[in-house]
Amino acid sequence: MRKGGFRVVFSVPIPFNEVLRDFYCGHRRMVLTITYKWLAVVLAGLLSVVLAFLIWFSWSRTDSAIVSFTFDDASNTQYDQAFRIAQSYGLPGTLFVPTEMVNMSERGEGYEWTMGWDRIREISAAGWEIGSHSRTHTRLRDLSPDQVKDELRGSRLEIEAQTGIAPMSFSSPFGNFDDDVIAQVMDVYDFHLSWKGHRGRNPGRGFERRFIGRFEVENDMTAAQVCGEMVKAAEADTWLVLLFHGIVEGEAEEYEVSTDVFEEIVACAGLLQAQGLIRVETVRDAVEILDWRRNLPFWGRQRGRDRG
Ligand SMILES: [Zn+2]
Repeated sequence: MRKGGFRVVFSVPIPFNEVLRDFYCGHRRMVLTITYKWLAVVLAGLLSVVLAFLIWFSWSRTDSAIVSFTFDDASNTQYDQAFRIAQSYGLPGTLFVPTEMVNMSERGEGYEWTMGWDRIREISAAGWEIGSHSRTHTRLRDLSPDQVKDELRGSRLEIEAQTGIAPMSFSSPFGNFDDDVIAQVMDVYDFHLSWKGHRGRNPGRGFERRFIGRFEVENDMTAAQVCGEMVKAAEADTWLVLLFHGIVEGEAEEYEVSTDVFEEIVACAGLLQAQGLIRVETVRDAVEILDWRRNLPFWGRQRGRDRG
C-alpha cells in the first residue's frame, strides 16, 4: 500500500575528488521520501519547543525584582575591584564616565585615579553599560543652557566614538540639577539618574525615566544593610538602583566602600538572583525589561502592582 507523503529530490555537492584532485566535482542526486505522518510529528515537536521557550522566557522576565549596580566617575578602583568582583559573580553594572576626566597618559598629574579608555572599552565589551557623567564633572545648574548642552552632547559623542555604543543613561554630577537641566538631559539621553532620589527604590511600574533614584552605598554601611535593601526590593517588586563611588582595599573613607563589603554585597545579589528573587541588570536593560513587562497582555500588569 502506498503511504501518504512526498518525495524530495535534491543534489548534494561532492566537494573533493581524490583522483581528480579538484576542489569542486559536481553533484550527486539524492531522493528522500517524507511521509505526512512524520512531517506532522516533527512540526508538532518544533512547535512545542518554541511554545515552551516563549512561556519560559516571558515568565522569567516577569518573575523578579530588578537590582542595578551603578558606578560614578570611572575610577581605577572601580576597574580593579568592582569590575573584577562583579565579573567573577557574572553580574553586570553601569559605569558613568565624565569624559574629560578619563585618564589619558599625556594628561599627567591629577588624572591617575581615573581609568583610561582601554579599560572602559574592556568593561563595555564585557556587556556592561557605559553611561555619561558629563564632560567635566561640574555642577550643571551653574552653567548656561549652551554650556549644559555642550556637557551633554560632548560626552555622548566621545563615549560613542570610544566604545562604538551611544550612551542612553546620564547621571548628574553631584546630583546637581533642576527641571531645566533635566529637560536638556532628556533631549540627549533616554534616562536621567539622580543621586539619592527615592532612596533608590523606583517603582517597578511607572518609574520616571527623567528621575531614576539611587541608593548610595556609604562607607559606614554594612553588607547586611544593603542586602536587606535588595530583599525589600524583591518583596515590594521595586527596581533598586545602587550607587557606588570608590571601592578600596582596607579602610573606606567618604564616597568609598571597602572591597570586603562590596564583595559581600555582590555575593548577596548573586545568591538572591540564583533563588529567582531578583535579577541584576544594567540600567539600560532594566528599563527595557520593565517596559516589556508593562506591555504584557495581562500577567505582567497583574503581577506588576506597585506594592511598595
Ligand atoms: Zn561623580
